[in-house]
Amino acid sequence: MSSAASERIRRPRSLAARITLWYVAIFIASVAALVALALPAVRDAVSTEHTITVESRVQRHLAALVTRGLPAYEHAVEQAAQLGTDDAVRVQDAAGRTLYERGNISASLRTATRTTRELQIELGAVADPWAAVRERLRPGVLLLLAFALLLAIGGAFYVTRQALRPLRALAATAHDVSVSGDLSRRVPERGGDDELEQLSHLFNRMLERNQRLVTGMRESLDNVAHDLRTPLTRLRGAAEVALRSDDPALARDALADTVEESERVLAMLRTLMDISEAEAGLMRLSRVPTLLGQLAADSIELYAHVAEDAGISLSSTRTDDVTVDVDPTRIRQAIANLLDNAIKYTPAGGTVTVEVLDEGAHARIRVRDTGEGIEPEAIPRIWDRLYRADPSRSRPGLGLGLSLVRAVVAAHGGRVEVESEVGRGSAFSIVIPTAPAETRIVRQ
Ligand code: ADP
Repeated sequence: MSSAASERIRRPRSLAARITLWYVAIFIASVAALVALALPAVRDAVSTEHTITVESRVQRHLAALVTRGLPAYEHAVEQAAQLGTDDAVRVQDAAGRTLYERGNISASLRTATRTTRELQIELGAVADPWAAVRERLRPGVLLLLAFALLLAIGGAFYVTRQALRPLRALAATAHDVSVSGDLSRRVPERGGDDELEQLSHLFNRMLERNQRLVTGMRESLDNVAHDLRTPLTRLRGAAEVALRSDDPALARDALADTVEESERVLAMLRTLMDISEAEAGLMRLSRVPTLLGQLAADSIELYAHVAEDAGISLSSTRTDDVTVDVDPTRIRQAIANLLDNAIKYTPAGGTVTVEVLDEGAHARIRVRDTGEGIEPEAIPRIWDRLYRADPSRSRPGLGLGLSLVRAVVAAHGGRVEVESEVGRGSAFSIVIPTAPAETRIVRQ
């Protein structure tokens, strides 16, 4: 494993900062686009307004000129000019001679002309109204833009950081789990239903599942080690007896014991490997269309003597005519395991019955006994590898039968079910889909 320093995750470049930068860039681009679009329109409006003003002013000038006469008009214009008007004025007679001129008409930005029979008056506006508007607006607009920019940066950063909080919590938990290996850590969930909350929720479910799997594997390994110790110790004891013994008959007996114990260990390892193979989806199944009733009948026949010896009545109560696409050897093995248990955990005088039911999309094989039943707390654990409920420890068995049944049935795409009442008996079911293999959804 690498050093602790390299285990540490690199401090991430802040996503919030990057999103904020993008947001601000988009904000600036939008404002620029808005200004670029709005500016010509505003300028046009100012220019139109200016034209109208000049036109109306020339009308007033003409009226003053006509009603007061040129000298009085000149006087009024000069006085007004002293008050700061930038207009240029030119008055000409009908022959085009200039009678009065003030300011430079040809340098005007906009001119308006009115003509009577004897006179022509021209008014020119020298000042640029747009420049004036611009100058007046500039400080306010710049201040407003600076404020909006600050608000955009601060707001975007705050909102993004808040929104990314669950993601940071998730990264912190993932980091803790990867460094410490402690699968009991969880991401705090706030109960919302947005995408990030869903991610936290799914991440926690994944951790839970992993924790369960790892704990299950540890327990299995402990159980295997524990359960192997007894037969191996006995095997070694028998081998030592054989070695030390001078009596060939005693030595042969001891060797026979070693063979028996080795067989027990091998059977346990074989079953464990079968279960692992089936659970990993690697069990090779030779599926053929099989009449389930026939498999049940075979198994009943196989256990007839065992049941008779135990003083138990074993019979089939209902057999529907249902064909399933299964590996007959494996399913027969599963039914046999259920029968073996039913007989083992039912006292003499009890009954064990087998039913084969056609339930449409499924076929069910139910093995029912009138035995000792199972404590409700033990029910979820009976399918675990090497699990044996306390009262069963005095009876022969490896604690692997039901694990194998479940693994084999799951490999066929089916499921197992159990109902049990202490003192009254149990009913174990194998449920297998009846749909033909080609119409079933194949999981890759
Ligand atoms: P084993 O029978 O070798 O102990 P199994 O995996 O077949 O292992 O069963 C696990 C446990 O489930 C048994 O130890 C027993 O406690 C319980 N069990 C299984 N079948 C029955 C049954 N028919 N009646 C009562 N208990 C049962």
